[in-house]
Formats: sequence, structure tokens, C-alpha cells
Amino acid sequence: MINRRKSKEIQIGNVKIGGNNPISVQSMCNTDTRDVAATLEQIHKMKDRGCELVRLAVLNKDAAEAIKDIVKNSPLPLIADIHFDYRLAIQCINNGINALRLNPGNIGKRENVEKVVALAKQQNIPIRIGVNAGSLEKRFQESNESGKWKVESGKSNNFQLSTFNFQLTNSLAELMVESALDHIKILEDLDFDLIKVSLKSSDVLTTIEAYRLIAEKIPYPLHLGVTEAGTMRQGLIKSSIGLGTLLAEGIGDTIRVSLTEDPVEEVTAGFDILKGLGLREKGVNFISCPTCGRTQIDLINLAKRVEEKFKNLDKPITIATMGCAVNGPGEARHADFGIAGGIGEGYIFKKGEIIARVPENQLLEKLEEIIINSSI
Ligand code: SF4
Repeated sequence: MINRRKSKEIQIGNVKIGGNNPISVQSMCNTDTRDVAATLEQIHKMKDRGCELVRLAVLNKDAAEAIKDIVKNSPLPLIADIHFDYRLAIQCINNGINALRLNPGNIGKRENVEKVVALAKQQNIPIRIGVNAGSLEKRFQESNESGKWKVESGKSNNFQLSTFNFQLTNSLAELMVESALDHIKILEDLDFDLIKVSLKSSDVLTTIEAYRLIAEKIPYPLHLGVTEAGTMRQGLIKSSIGLGTLLAEGIGDTIRVSLTEDPVEEVTAGFDILKGLGLREKGVNFISCPTCGRTQIDLINLAKRVEEKFKNLDKPITIATMGCAVNGPGEARHADFGIAGGIGEGYIFKKGEIIARVPENQLLEKLEEIIINSSI
């Protein structure tokens, strides 16, 4: 049982984040936000996979204008991702956006920050402060010839760079935390607390360290992610290690798995990580045996076909695909349903008990029929 860190609850549209609420899964559109139809189509695909929050990049006025029509027709709450231009944030809020991702220290004069925060407060629009290791503010970024970080600790607004000290005095994770605390202070000074925080690095250990550090310092909910994690295989592995470690320690309130892939896949990956830790029940949990000398069926393909067939089934059940009838049903007796392969035929079992013997080419159809008609 995971003992979750207690965080302040915030709400984005109809999705509550933090407190005792389920850890939500989000993704980010990779469409041009100005293309309303394409963006909505992608949002709908994400929703069909179970996505709960969607972020959109808002690069210019036209994109901020498109937010109006996207919000009106979106089935999911939306977050506008804005860098540097406070006017885009104001335009998005006026156009109905549900939340912002914006670093208040990066949008210029204090009066601009005040305008955005006042409007966000009036409309109950949470702001995510998102610190990425690769885009830390310049004052945190000085490096010496050996490429090591060499910032000495000090007041966050007044860092002194040491010319001679070649020792690593603050880790990158600590610098990311310092940066986030600076941004948080700007919002708190304006009496704004609808805050969410992310501290992402493409380095898994840096990400873990940064979140661990900030989890002890602030009450706000944390959005977890390993950024630039890579393509499907690398990205899944890095995200599973990074997010999985933190989630197992009770840290994290919402997650995004960053993949160089169709963003819809990020949603499935996010739920798979949460399901793996018993933090969410969502659709089918698939298990399959690793195969061995007793395997009597083309199990690798069969397991893939089972996953493909039931990937959108919205029942919180476990389906097992096992290579032999001798050990399969017993080894997977905790599964709700399963297939065990024989020679030219297979067996369907339920909670470890064989309930049908079926020709190999009819296994999937029979399994589907049994599952659909089951009350589980
Ligand atoms: Fe081998 Fe059968 Fe176990 Fe699969 S279920 S690993 S085929 S013994």
C-alpha cells in the first residue's frame, strides 16, 4: 500500500488534482493549436484512451484565439502552455482555458505578472510552474570548462558565481528546486495558491532527486514527468523508472509520460504505470508468461493479439495469455480470465479453472464472448 504525500487540492475543469484524488493522466497535443479541427480530433482520441487533461501549446495570438473554439467543443479540461508573453495568458483565460502552464518569473515586468495572476485568481484558473533542467534561467546555467555546475548556494535572488570553485556545490536538481521556489514565491506574494509544480529533466536520477527535494518543501500538487524521454522503448523505460520510483514513494498527483510518439500512446503508458503500482484501475491489466520449452502455441503473437483486441475494453479485469495448459491456468490463477495454449487448440480459464476447450483459431472470439457476457 502506497502512502501518498498529502498535497493541496486544486481543480482544473472538472478534474481535481492533489489531496486524496486519483492521480490523473495527461498528455499534450502535437497539432498546430490554430488548427481547431485537428486539435479537437486529437483531444477526442486522447479521451477515448482515458486521458483526463490535455495541454496545448499557445505560441501566438492566433493560437490563443483558437482556444475559444477548442474549449467550447473539448470533452476534456485544457491547459494552455505559454512562454514569455503574458498577453497570451490573458487572452487564453478570457477565451475559457481551464489552466495555465507558465512560469511567472519569465513573463517580464511585475505589473504583467500581476495582471495575469489577478485574472487567474478571479476565474479560479490554476497555474503550473514548470521548471525544465534544459531551460533553467541563465543565472542557474553558468558552467565551467569541465562542464560541471558551479553555482554556490546563496539567496535564490542573488546567486554568486564562483570563478575559482570548481567543485559541484549545488546539484542540478537543487538548482531546479531553487528556480521553482522563486516562481512559487512570486505567486504567493500575490496571494495566489492555485499552484501545481513540475521539475523535469531528461536525466532520470535528476528528475527523481528534484521531486523528492521539493516534495518536502511545498504543499502544492506535483505534476510528474521525465522530459525528452525518447521514443517508445526508451521513453517508456525512463518514464517507468522515474515516475514509478516517485509514485511508489507517494510523490505525484498527475503524470505525463513524454514520448516521441503519437501523444495518444502517452495516455496508455501513463495508465499502465499507475496500474502497475495499483494506483489506478483502468481497463484491462494484461499478463502473459515469458514462454519456455513447454510453450505449445505461437504465444508472442497471441499475447499481442489479445492486447490489441481488449485494449479499449473498459473493465478493470486481468487477462492472462499463457503458453501451456499444464501450468498456465495455475500460474495465472489470480487473473480473471485467461488463455492457455495447447497443440492446435487452447483452453480458456477463469480464476484458474478451465471452462472451455477451443480450436486455436477460435480462441480470441470465444474469450471475447465469455468476457462480454460475464458480470465481472
Ligand atoms: Fe512455460 Fe507454461 Fe509457464 Fe508459460 S505457462 S512459462 S509455457 S510453464
